[in-house]
Amino acid sequence: MIVMKFGGTSVGDARAIDRVASIVQGRLTQRPVVVVSAMSKVTDTLLTMARAAGAGERKAALKLCRSLQERHYNTASELLGTALFTQFHAELGADFEALDELLRGISAVGELTPRTTDHVAAFGEVLSSKIVAAAFSARGLNGSHVDSRDILVTDSNYMQAVPQYDETNERLKTNVQPLLDESQVPVMGGFMGASRAGITTTIGRGGSDFSAAIVGAGLGAERIEIWTDVDGILTTDPRICPDARRIKVIGFDEAAELAYFGAKVLHPATVLPAIQKNIPVYVLNSLNPSCEGTRITTHAPQGQNIFKAIAAKKHITIIQVAAPRMLLAHGFLRAIFEAFDRHKVAVDVVSTSEVSVSLTVDSNHSIPALAADLSKLADVKYEGRKAIVCLVGENLREKPGIAALVFRELADKKIRMISQGASEINLTFVIEEDEVPDVIQRLHKTFFAELDPEVFA
Ligand code: ASP
Ligand code: MG
Repeated sequence: MIVMKFGGTSVGDARAIDRVASIVQGRLTQRPVVVVSAMSKVTDTLLTMARAAGAGERKAALKLCRSLQERHYNTASELLGTALFTQFHAELGADFEALDELLRGISAVGELTPRTTDHVAAFGEVLSSKIVAAAFSARGLNGSHVDSRDILVTDSNYMQAVPQYDETNERLKTNVQPLLDESQVPVMGGFMGASRAGITTTIGRGGSDFSAAIVGAGLGAERIEIWTDVDGILTTDPRICPDARRIKVIGFDEAAELAYFGAKVLHPATVLPAIQKNIPVYVLNSLNPSCEGTRITTHAPQGQNIFKAIAAKKHITIIQVAAPRMLLAHGFLRAIFEAFDRHKVAVDVVSTSEVSVSLTVDSNHSIPALAADLSKLADVKYEGRKAIVCLVGENLREKPGIAALVFRELADKKIRMISQGASEINLTFVIEEDEVPDVIQRLHKTFFAELDPEVFA
């Protein structure tokens, strides 16, 4: 069997869902389980209305809910036609009644808890999976809606719940496998699950890829297909380099580094359940289904090029912590990281000298509060408008002299921090944010002028 996961834009309207149906039709002999995201932007809207309700703005919340209802009804009636929609619309209606009730409850209490947030957020995938399953059936595809809250068992860490694999795999085998055996096409919502007590949970924003990987690992899929609206993973951002090319095959580790450093293709956590079972993951384009996309696999051929891709992550702040005290003072780094921990700020790149530490963080964090805390330990300076540039490739491990090649191209640039990752497959450094296009273009020209056809399209 295979898992086919369709993201929000791939199920964003009736036309998109129609395309999904024909893509799935073409894969029927491979026995697909379909995992869908909420329709595009729906999760954001749900969270906005939940917050509005939490702030006591009942009318605003319900108004947003009506527009959401209209969009889902229109999509469903367009897909199903009047006769079928008449039967189906009661089912959607019940969901919207439940959502309304929830919003009224939240606004009456005037408090939005993580648990209630998950209740609201899950509606996006509940609705999209029902509509897609009904659309499949209307097209003779034997779609069978499966409520993911009956399958994906998680802990109770709301909004960031952790899957409980043993129980989830059990339920996949007892509830989903039989549908495949009867040649049905199970359609599940991603992102959501339920605790052992049956309370709705979600596994973190963008979590539908993760859901797909969990389902694929649990059912022993031959492969997992992540359908998006780009042709796969590219050598770099095509908005910066119009000649960016598709990577045909890439290692899991390489893809994880890229996802982390700004390539918006795949959630790194997706990688985990699939790697453990050695299941290849494909990134494919629902707007261009005949394109072969990118295969992500444990053992990828390396080819002749040094790098697979270049990514940049903008909106970075460098924090410099300097203290002569660090000289021989063990425990200093721990104290610094404890401060980051207290402020729940994640660090991307670290470089240290005998007397100072530089760290990069996402500029969205509230840095002044963190800096104030750190300044109890040492002198602190911070500077925004930076970007991390990351070159990724397994070949980096083998070949000497690569850093020299990279920095020779950037001899006139101010390079702030350099780190060759512990994984040995990335070369990372920090530059001024406004230099990103120039730096990426130069490096792309240097390292991707000639491409090994085994690895690149
Ligand atoms: N709909 C959820 C989100 O937007 C999950 C997903 O799309 O993967 O975060
Ligand atoms: Mg989404």
